[in-house]
Amino acid sequence: MITGKNYIGNVLSATGNTTFKTFNPQKNQENEVVFTEATTIEIEQAVELAREAFKIFKTISGVAKSKFLNEIANQILALGDNLLNIYCLESGLSKERAISERTRTIFQLHSFADLVKDGSWVEAVIDTANLERTPVPKVDLRKMLMPLGPIVVFGASNFPLAYSTAGGDTAAALAAGCPVIVKSHPMHAGTGELVAYAVIKAAEITGMPNGVFSNLNSSGIEVGVTLVKHPAVKAVGFTGSVRGGRSLYNTASQRPEPIPVFAEMGSVNPVILLPNAASKKAVFWAKNYAKSITQGAGQFCTNPGLILAVKSEGLTSFIETLAEEIIKIKPVCMLHPNIIGAFEDNKSTIQQQKGVKMVVDYNGEVSKNYGRQIITTVDAVRFLENTTLHQEVFGPFSMVVQCENVEQLQVVISKLEGQLTGTILAEDELENNLEIVNALQNKVGRIIFNGVPTGVEVCDAMVHGGPYPASTDSRFTAVGVNSIKRWVRPICYQNWPDKLLPNELKNENPLGIYRSVNGKHTVDVI
Ligand code: NAP
Repeated sequence: MITGKNYIGNVLSATGNTTFKTFNPQKNQENEVVFTEATTIEIEQAVELAREAFKIFKTISGVAKSKFLNEIANQILALGDNLLNIYCLESGLSKERAISERTRTIFQLHSFADLVKDGSWVEAVIDTANLERTPVPKVDLRKMLMPLGPIVVFGASNFPLAYSTAGGDTAAALAAGCPVIVKSHPMHAGTGELVAYAVIKAAEITGMPNGVFSNLNSSGIEVGVTLVKHPAVKAVGFTGSVRGGRSLYNTASQRPEPIPVFAEMGSVNPVILLPNAASKKAVFWAKNYAKSITQGAGQFCTNPGLILAVKSEGLTSFIETLAEEIIKIKPVCMLHPNIIGAFEDNKSTIQQQKGVKMVVDYNGEVSKNYGRQIITTVDAVRFLENTTLHQEVFGPFSMVVQCENVEQLQVVISKLEGQLTGTILAEDELENNLEIVNALQNKVGRIIFNGVPTGVEVCDAMVHGGPYPASTDSRFTAVGVNSIKRWVRPICYQNWPDKLLPNELKNENPLGIYRSVNGKHTVDVI
């Protein structure tokens, strides 16, 4: 049952007066449960518990953390249809989407469980002493990664499971040994509470310290800002808009002790249609992109919002087919009236810009809160002089930028902001366009050849991040087990007694992990 309360560690609490409800966009009405926003005292209690829990949690073995993460996955599955139903009621998304997002969430938890069970992820490096060295003997130095401390996680509206309460950020932080306080997303607070229940239950079953996880409700920004300012919080994970991520980044950097904010934010994900691909595969790519642009009502951070190409017959055919195909696709419900409101506002802002022409605007009958797809086009010169056209329109939208030649196409790419992805559609012409490839590489976290950017595989090689404003730190990924690196720092032990070293660094290598010992990658004992 959903109570509408906060989880302050293992205890449900609702002492505040500010309440809110979630919204069913399919029915265009509020859902029943009343949620109570966390008070300043409850925030303080959650952070204090996390601070205490960290003392124990950071020393817990990889095997124990692995059991905890696997148990969270079990408990999420055990929520069964209750979880799927509330997910649909609060998001307007389909049951199939709920199931696939749950599968992804569980896969992420299992992946981190495997990683920490194996243990080699701590990147142990050992340089043994050389007392014979002259003129100065060499000391014994051993380093590994250690957790940062309590982490605050903000989930995104468009992924109520995989990028929220027990999503990638939380799974990675817990795997690293960091307690997590979730600032629950107000649009899916019920989904969040059920998942929080699963995490708390798993923590109790596997003997994790109280405070390893808390879940705080809020309908405005105050709870999140208070958390980010709290001195015991050591890092922040955020998925959402550039406006929100940047604001929290600024708050964190202005603290007496600045902390990192790993914010994964918006992106327009440019797609470069090279001339031969336009002349030979215009119809094929137009059909594929009609689907990609409208998938999930375009509510993906990897939605292709910008298509760049050189004017040609092929490009005209691409644009015409894209228009024909996209109009055949039935609009679907968007997540929330606020999201559709922002979509409508952003669409009309774009349409009012000088030189922007409408290619197609779905004008059939749709239910309330359904997002009508729209394609626009603009000449490169206009695009270059107006940065409003470079901003993300979150929803089923894309703009085709028409360039005079490949040189101008390259200039357009060089003027773009940082992106999560960049795609090149090409025939046998890639090698003749290496400058385009280089220009795009400088802007993106993931560069795609002949495909669509939507669909983010969860695996070790994935990079979900990119130069600002796609993320606040392009050196890290938010997807895949390497995202654990955001929540750790290196520590080096000099001439430390062997028996007092962490197990990962002891001579006997009791965990049997891979380590670099005097430059050799090995599991050997020393
Ligand atoms: P959002 O409006 O930025 O909200 C995200 C969370 O941050 C919410 O809990 C929100 O709380 C909080 N928040 C926003 N502004 C804040 C501020 N100034 N101070 C403190 N807290 C703040 O984003 P959204 O609507 O949930 O998600 C849609 C956006 O996310 C799109 O732009 C999309 O591209 C992006 N996204 C990116 C990725 C990625 O991996 N890069 C993935 C999914 C989505 P309140 O709602 O209570 O204000």
